[in-house]
Amino acid sequence: MALSGLDIYKLLPKTNCKECGFPTCLAFAMQIAAKKVELAKCPHVSPEAKKTLESASQPPIRLVTIGAGEGRLQVGNETVMFRHEETFYHPTGIGFLIEDTLSAKEFSERINRINKLKFERVGQEIKVDLIALKCVSGKKDIFVEAVKRVLAQSQLNLMLISENPQILKEAASLAKERRPLLYAARKDNTEAMAQIAKELSSPLVVCADTLDELAELTQKITAQGVKDLILDSGAKNLAEKVNELTQIRRLALKNTYRPLGYPTIAITTSQEPNQEIMEAAAYIAKYAGIVILKAEEPWQVLPLLTLRQNIYTDPQKPLQVEPKAYEIGQVTDKSPVLVTTNFSLTYYTVEAEVEASRIGAYIISSYAEGLSVLTAWAAEKFTAETIAKDLNESGIKDKVSHREIIIPGYVAVLSAKLEEESGWKVKVGPKEASGIPSFLKSWK
Ligand code: SF4
Repeated sequence: MALSGLDIYKLLPKTNCKECGFPTCLAFAMQIAAKKVELAKCPHVSPEAKKTLESASQPPIRLVTIGAGEGRLQVGNETVMFRHEETFYHPTGIGFLIEDTLSAKEFSERINRINKLKFERVGQEIKVDLIALKCVSGKKDIFVEAVKRVLAQSQLNLMLISENPQILKEAASLAKERRPLLYAARKDNTEAMAQIAKELSSPLVVCADTLDELAELTQKITAQGVKDLILDSGAKNLAEKVNELTQIRRLALKNTYRPLGYPTIAITTSQEPNQEIMEAAAYIAKYAGIVILKAEEPWQVLPLLTLRQNIYTDPQKPLQVEPKAYEIGQVTDKSPVLVTTNFSLTYYTVEAEVEASRIGAYIISSYAEGLSVLTAWAAEKFTAETIAKDLNESGIKDKVSHREIIIPGYVAVLSAKLEEESGWKVKVGPKEASGIPSFLKSWK
């Protein structure tokens, strides 16, 4: 049973030495109870207390790292069922299946297309995470050669798929430095696969058709000393798969059921590309740590990356841009000056429309705690006073020779007060950003 913060506190040294990074032992105990820190951060716990506290201090879903260096993928360590309860921390890894039987040309082209799957959205780079190389040939030489080509051609993380432990071992040894994810330990090869994962210090996928079988296998494998596991409950239809992913998450979080306290993987089965994207989207929403798919056209992948970005954004901290004056296009001292809030989605929507107008302009992003225009205005975060202040502090006065500012149509009501506060003449712009290009055409 999970221990409360006070139960944990009773077992700590109670010296408040702060070496764990927390001001008191009680504060540290509360964080352990909330499963936000590991007991190892306190160097003074007695061995007896350690034993008792071990299960209480582990995160309910283990954090598993695939790959090495800056681009490594970390999945798991989630603490809530629903994003609005707190936040989701480690975004679902998105990977693409490549079979080792493709011709050299097709193989190389597919890797190149996957490497290019990077986009910019609301000021952030969003990109894919891994290549899942599958041994379809059943031949060691072919698979090993394919691994070499992926290593030479891509910096993405790697997942190696083979049912044959010997083939997998040889291929994984080549990629050892990249700490590839190995796929997969099953009932009939558990020991051999666990041994390879242990020797290479690689994370391992455990695959079984039922959750009971999965739990049995993870216990066997951890007893062999392999801790970094990813769970695969096998190929199912979408409803069954989402149901099982949800059950695994629930059992890990609500029941602290250690045998299923690992991140999960889902491999799409849909053959039709649109269907496959919808299937992958469902897995990202609930609750896959990694999704592997075949479709790799940018128009197919961008919606998935966008969905992931939205789900894995802290709901209490909206994406924000730096509050300042931005130059868009070729600006002069006569360029128009628009103001909007610092909510990323709002700012980039306005920016895109200004760019589309092909008229150089300044946009003042006014600090409004990352809220959109109407919400910020209603919450009194986007007022005549705040806009006037940001206008002054942005240095825009030195960049333009006029004193006219364009405000969003929805806050026309601020006009008189803003003129009074800033000394600038206010022009009311369109309510929707889509009206900006035609509005700017009339700018003199
Ligand atoms: Fe207490 Fe240990 Fe933290 Fe020191 S390091 S304050 S003893 S919990």
